[in-house]
Amino acid sequence: ERSGLDRELERLDGAPYGRYKGLVGAWELPGGATLELVRSQADPFAPPARVAVHVPGRQAGFPRELWDSPVRRRALAGYLVRRAAREAAGESAYQVDAGGQEVLDRGSCTIGAADGSVTLRLGVALPGPRRRIDGRDARRLLCQGLPRLAERALRHAAPDEAAVREFVATVEDSDALRAALPGLGLVAFVADGALLPRRSGADDRPARGSGLVPFLAPDELRVTVRLPHAGPVTGMGIPEGVTLIVGGGFHGKSTLLRGLESGIWDHAPGDGRERVVARHDTVKIRAEDGRRVERVDVHAFVDHLPGGADTTDFSTPNASGSTSQAASLCEAVEAGARVLLIDEDTAATNLMIRDARMQALVAKEREPLTPLVDSVRSLHRDHGVSTVLVMGGSGDYLEVADRVVMLDAYRPYDVTGRAREIAARPTGRRAEADSFPGVVPRRPDPSSLDATARGRSRIRARGTDHLVFGEHELDLRGVEQLADAPHVTGVGLAMELLVRRGHLDGRRSLAQALDLLDLDLDGQDGVAALRSVHDDDFAVPRRYEVAAAVNRLRTLRVFR
Ligand code: ADP
Ligand code: MG
Repeated sequence: ERSGLDRELERLDGAPYGRYKGLVGAWELPGGATLELVRSQADPFAPPARVAVHVPGRQAGFPRELWDSPVRRRALAGYLVRRAAREAAGESAYQVDAGGQEVLDRGSCTIGAADGSVTLRLGVALPGPRRRIDGRDARRLLCQGLPRLAERALRHAAPDEAAVREFVATVEDSDALRAALPGLGLVAFVADGALLPRRSGADDRPARGSGLVPFLAPDELRVTVRLPHAGPVTGMGIPEGVTLIVGGGFHGKSTLLRGLESGIWDHAPGDGRERVVARHDTVKIRAEDGRRVERVDVHAFVDHLPGGADTTDFSTPNASGSTSQAASLCEAVEAGARVLLIDEDTAATNLMIRDARMQALVAKEREPLTPLVDSVRSLHRDHGVSTVLVMGGSGDYLEVADRVVMLDAYRPYDVTGRAREIAARPTGRRAEADSFPGVVPRRPDPSSLDATARGRSRIRARGTDHLVFGEHELDLRGVEQLADAPHVTGVGLAMELLVRRGHLDGRRSLAQALDLLDLDLDGQDGVAALRSVHDDDFAVPRRYEVAAAVNRLRTLRVFR
């Protein structure tokens, strides 16, 4: 059986490379799948052509219960795109974005809500030695390889039945666990048996080898949650309020916090964090000196600067560690974050603490900074914002913590009682603030978010830390909950969507515009919405990552 595309490529053999462009459009493949050449490749060294392979629901054959809800479609797509990436691994012309350990809504694979059809979108480097179409090799890649890929990876296959069900059940359980947190008064949950350590700082897969200590909840914090597939699951529930994680260096504090950071996403089976979840509105905050700040009210943390700058309306092209962290915290709350995660390793010490002796030596009038320790309680009491904080080096937070968890050789213990006794002994420290005043909403000027460069829109990730947005490159190293490079692209596309859909109109606050964006990005609709900006590999971000990127744009202007 030969397709029209097959005949066309045979005909074009030896023609100038640019004539691939004439093939843009949809083609029937043998076996019932459809191939769409979405975008051709400009020349042999340009980014690969964009190709969509569509398998109708009847032929894909997945039972309805694997795709009849948004979370199940995300999970099934996550499973299939991983299978496709494995199948495609031997062919360097194919680029399939399967992502990493997280199971995100991705542009690379979607499931039709109405019929369970499967669409895989991938890059295909079109062969063109000496800038001529190699019809034979192109036929091999497009007319033989892709139908085979569809056959092997995108259809229901009996031998994979157990694996695909486990994948979907794992993701659905994780999603249900996260959704259960508010009703239980929790901000996060770490299941007994979870494996938190990763292979390395550059490799997010689970650590291997001996000496791994599975998580085991302390009795005082043990909670049982009933999951739709796994049934009752026990683990440590972190309650709302202020939670302090203490313990000696190298005892696993940061590893636990990083588990919570990534607990906003679901993880693939075998990851070790399948049942480690944090509320979806959880944001990691860190110091990030050098970042730009645009008209943020940071006076709760920074006041009476030497130059006399107004810190209720504070801007700088080059923030210090402490002011950057203060701004990031206020911006996160402005965007709607209700749980903040902070690690001493990446925090500005002078924004975190100012102890009794330093208070005695440096008078408050000479210190612009008010440490978080004096507003963290008010953040929760008055604004409903909980904090989970890693702090092994100072006891000042013992006084303000609702819960203190100590890690000892990677095992958590509830030491709240003992911490209270210690905190009852006076240190002579005086509180320097009694409340967090809240945030001032800002209204971004949409014309200051301009993705155009040389007359057309340019949005793409440069690695996992940088976003090319129009003429500018955004540094997202401080935005730690982004999972991978396509996720960075997704942030850029979402920023553009904020402008194109008119959500940002100069009158709406950033938070209001993000509310509208949330509707666009809900479930797999988000994939279609972002793809309407540009069809490329991307993963759908949260509003918090989008807000963080907007706030780091060096061109951003806001009204207040
Ligand atoms: P801390 O922040 O308390 O100094 P880290 O979280 O950085 O400690 O962990 C120190 C080391 O211990 C890291 O190499 C980490 O991978 C490893 N580690 C963390 N948790 C575990 C665990 N449960 N089992 C084995 N090793 C672990
Ligand atoms: Mg640490």
